[in-house]
Parts: sequence; structure tokens; C-alpha cells
Amino acid sequence: MEKRDYYEVLGVSKTASDDEIKSAFRKLAKKYHPDVSKEPDAAEKFKEAQEAYAVLSDTNKRKQYDQFGHAAFNQGGAGGAGGAGGFDFSGFDFSDIFGDLFGNSGFDFGFGGSRSRSANRATKGRDSLIKMDLTFEEAVFGCKKDVKLETYEDCPECNGKGGYGESKCSECHGSGVATVEQRTLFGTFMSRTTCPNCGGSGKTYNSKCSNCRGNGKVKVNKTLSVSVPAGVDTGNQLRLAGKGEVGTNGGPNGDIYLEFNVKEHSLFKREENDIYIDFPITITEAIFGCKKEVPTISGNVKLTIDAGAETGDKYRLRGKGIEDVHSSRKGDMYVVIKVMIPKKITRDQKKLLEQLDSTDLTNSDETRLINKYL
Ligand SMILES: [Zn+2]
Ligand SMILES: [Zn+2]
Repeated sequence: MEKRDYYEVLGVSKTASDDEIKSAFRKLAKKYHPDVSKEPDAAEKFKEAQEAYAVLSDTNKRKQYDQFGHAAFNQGGAGGAGGAGGFDFSGFDFSDIFGDLFGNSGFDFGFGGSRSRSANRATKGRDSLIKMDLTFEEAVFGCKKDVKLETYEDCPECNGKGGYGESKCSECHGSGVATVEQRTLFGTFMSRTTCPNCGGSGKTYNSKCSNCRGNGKVKVNKTLSVSVPAGVDTGNQLRLAGKGEVGTNGGPNGDIYLEFNVKEHSLFKREENDIYIDFPITITEAIFGCKKEVPTISGNVKLTIDAGAETGDKYRLRGKGIEDVHSSRKGDMYVVIKVMIPKKITRDQKKLLEQLDSTDLTNSDETRLINKYL
């Protein structure tokens, strides 16, 4: 998106006085502050106004802006804490404006708390979330997977510095922070802001690194080899500490979170760490009982099904479930009996079944109960 002109953002003329700028910003801040505004894009508008005000209310920055436009503050995307365009106003002190706007109502405006923040503070690299599909077996037994990702690393050409011929910034003497005089409704205050000369790094360079265009960071495609532990399930996350985007100014790297999505198995139905299977037997197997071979995730087992088995009977195979991802304790497997009623029978079978039909049910509890209501 094209960055809007700061004067346009605040709705003031190029020759606007400091007071006009301040009052224009106050109006916008009241309208768009995300804590109070109901406008749909309030957060964006608020940030835009904040940025415009941070520049235009500062005599030096305004001069730079008038001369060079947005290019005056463009330090590029990757390292710039200010987001779009890379302008960093995190060190800018808005408290006097808001203190008076909202009457010290205890609002936390989220400017990061500390007023002496500057761009050369160590910050952790960004975290990222990567979704990963696993087969049932991969999730149950664990596996090794390659994860391809795009992230930022220190530029190998300049070792993350962004330039060559380093020297201490002459404006801020290496602190990255500039102290500026700020005129407000209540008088003149000294306020701390990011040094405009070095962009807050405290250092300047004789020449910019062409490989990273001064960012100090470059986009890279990486492949990580990951060990997925046994027992993970859909929605589980695995944190790969320090494998994310490189930190800034010596800050730690970000983390990568892998989130799993486990595909269903055609036979084994998973419930937490237990496994269920439907197991078909014939009518006669149900009547006489039988011995059956049953597949489990750790090989076949022999199961004795009792005489008189019915559909829905459950046989528990202790410890034949899935290993818990944390405790390594194993779940169980349940074999759920399904007595299959034949759809096609021969004449001989029919005769036999007709004999079976004379079975006396009058002694069963269910029949007695039904007869009571007939
Ligand atoms: Zn500086
Ligand atoms: Zn570089």
C-alpha cells in the first residue's frame, strides 16, 4: 500500500504550526484510539496518525521529511520496529498528549512501557506457526520430518550489521536515543526519541551492504529436520526453540511452533490414547464363542470371544493403545464386537435358522418387561 503523506494524514497544510499539528493529532487520536474507537480500521488509522505526528511534531524530523519525504525514514522492513515503511516511533513519548486527552484514566496505550526504548535494544525474533499433516502411524510412533520454511537470518555478507566501516553515531554518541525538545500545551519538555541519524542502532556505516540493502537481515529458505515425538495428536503443538526468525541487536531468535493435524486411519479409530476397532463375527461365532486374531498397532494378538457375544460388546486389550506424548504411558485398545446378520442364505441354512427361531426367549428379562406392557 502506498504510504500517505503525513500532512494529509493529519489533515493539515504544509505550513501548519506546531499547535495546529498537535490539535489535529489530538482529534484523530480521540477518534481512532483502539481502546475507545468503534471504527473498523481504527488501529491502522491510529498508528498512521501516531507516525505522522511523531515526525511532524519533531522539528528535525519534519525538516527531513519535508526534504526527502518518506524516504527519510525508510530503513526497510525486516528490522524496523515501526512496521510499515520501517519508521520506528517506539521511542517516542506520547504520554503528555494522552495523559491530557483521556485524563490519566489508567489507560495503557501500549507504547511498550519504558520511555527510553530505542531501536538498538535487543529484541527477540518473530515466532512462527507452521501446520504439519501427519499420518496416523507417524503420529502414533513418532517420525522424522523435514520442515521447509521461509525466515530471516543475519545477512552473511555483513554479518548482520547492514553496512561496512562501522563508527559510533556522532549524533547520539552510540546510545541510539536522541533527546528532543517538545513543545506541548503545558510547556516545553525534553523527550526521548529514536536517533534520526542512525535509526536507533547507535552506529553509522561508511557504506551500506548491498546484499541486504542495509537491513542486516536476509530472507532465507530453510529446511529443518524435526523429530516428532510418539503420541502426538491433532492440535498438539511442538515448540522448536530458537529456530525462528533471527533476533535484532543480539536478541534471541524467535521460536517455531509446529501444529499437527493427524489424518484418520481406515481401521483404528483414535480417542485420546485409546484405539477402537469394529470387529465382525458370524452369528454362530457369537453363539458358540470363538478365538480370533486381531490386528493392533503393535502386531496381531489372539482374542477369545465368549459364547453369547453380542453386538457392542467391548474387549479391552490393555496397553495396546497409543503411548502418551508426555508420560509415555500406553492407552488401551477396545475391540467392539459386531455380529453380522447374513443378507443372503442358502435353503439349507434357512432350515437350520428356522430351527433356531424356536429358541425360547420367554425367560429373558427383556421379554418379561415387554410383555408387561403388551
Ligand atoms: Zn544515532
Ligand atoms: Zn548485509
